Amino acid sequence: MPTATRRLFNFSAGPAVLPECVLEEVQRDLMALPGVGMSVLEISHRSTTYDEIAEAAEADLRALAGIPDNYRVLFLQGGASLQFAMVPLNLLPPDGVADYIVTGVWSKKALAEAARVGTARVAASTEDAKFTRLPRQDELQLTPGAAYVHMTSNNTIHGTQWRQPPDVGDAPLVCDACSDILSAPIDITRYGLVYAGAQKNLAPAGLTVAIVRDDLVSRSPASLPTMLQYSVHAANASHYNTPPVFAIYIMRLVLQWLRHEGGLDAIAVRNERKAATLYAAIDRTDFYRGTAERAARSRMNVTFRLPTDDLDARFLKSARAADLDGLKGHRAAGGIRASLYNAFPEAGVVALVQFMQEFERTQG
Ligand SMILES: *Cc1c(COP(=O)(O)O)cnc(C)c1O
Repeated sequence: MPTATRRLFNFSAGPAVLPECVLEEVQRDLMALPGVGMSVLEISHRSTTYDEIAEAAEADLRALAGIPDNYRVLFLQGGASLQFAMVPLNLLPPDGVADYIVTGVWSKKALAEAARVGTARVAASTEDAKFTRLPRQDELQLTPGAAYVHMTSNNTIHGTQWRQPPDVGDAPLVCDACSDILSAPIDITRYGLVYAGAQKNLAPAGLTVAIVRDDLVSRSPASLPTMLQYSVHAANASHYNTPPVFAIYIMRLVLQWLRHEGGLDAIAVRNERKAATLYAAIDRTDFYRGTAERAARSRMNVTFRLPTDDLDARFLKSARAADLDGLKGHRAAGGIRASLYNAFPEAGVVALVQFMQEFERTQG
């Protein structure tokens, strides 16, 4: 069923583009889920319909990411920003130390929250390079016996992305994967905990996914407020209280779409191709300059600049007029940012590259 409304190419960093076929299915079934007679917006979270949706979402997530049985999948709220606090509240004992690898604005925020809770150390920071690069393995200063090491797999604002997680020894690796979760195959066993606000690559806003190894789930101090304990959410199949049913339903459809597209191997190839096309256009001339170090370039958020701030502003204005929306860089970084999440169509990258060439020809 074609949508009646014209859609732009949405390069927004989040909330972000969703697969069109998912939006069409949501629209088709919004008045009443087939066989249920009620909208998904109206059903009880204690109903079998909800259970089926949540169980199918979890099963697809487990199948896609190859999540082993000794990990819990939790559907939470409060965004990644609440995870910045929940991680240390649950995993950092009073006499413990948590190490933070600081690679951008979001890792800094995660570090600041941990420092409110306990002892948090900076294992490495690339702030003096304005976060345009990632630390090398030999730059990491890890604390022996750390309660955990925190990293950000993709730096949404600065356009850098780890290809492989760093080696952190025996400490559990905790990963903020907001902006690249399920964008490529992942070896979950390298991590103790992976979390992501769903609004970039999985679903609309309102849902946070956490994948937590059993031994870390069991660290939750009983003295914590109930809603902040991973163990409570795990013991109650993520509906201790009312979960964000609609967002979980849409994630379920997005994961179904992802499986249908061929899973993470196939989406990784496509994501690689989209990013390569755009970086090639950036590198073709001196007019556009990528802001991240080449080896650290993100396939999800491509950041670049034009020769002057004024040209950046004109570029954004003309791009918007050409139906290319959401290209403004984060206020902390400026410049241009094209977010190319899983659901972002290849045709949109082609349209942007054509626009860039035309803009340079007429304005450069
Ligand atoms: C968007 C983002 C966040 C913030 O997520 P919220 O769900 O808005 O709290 C945190 N970390 C990264 C890497 C992000 O991209």
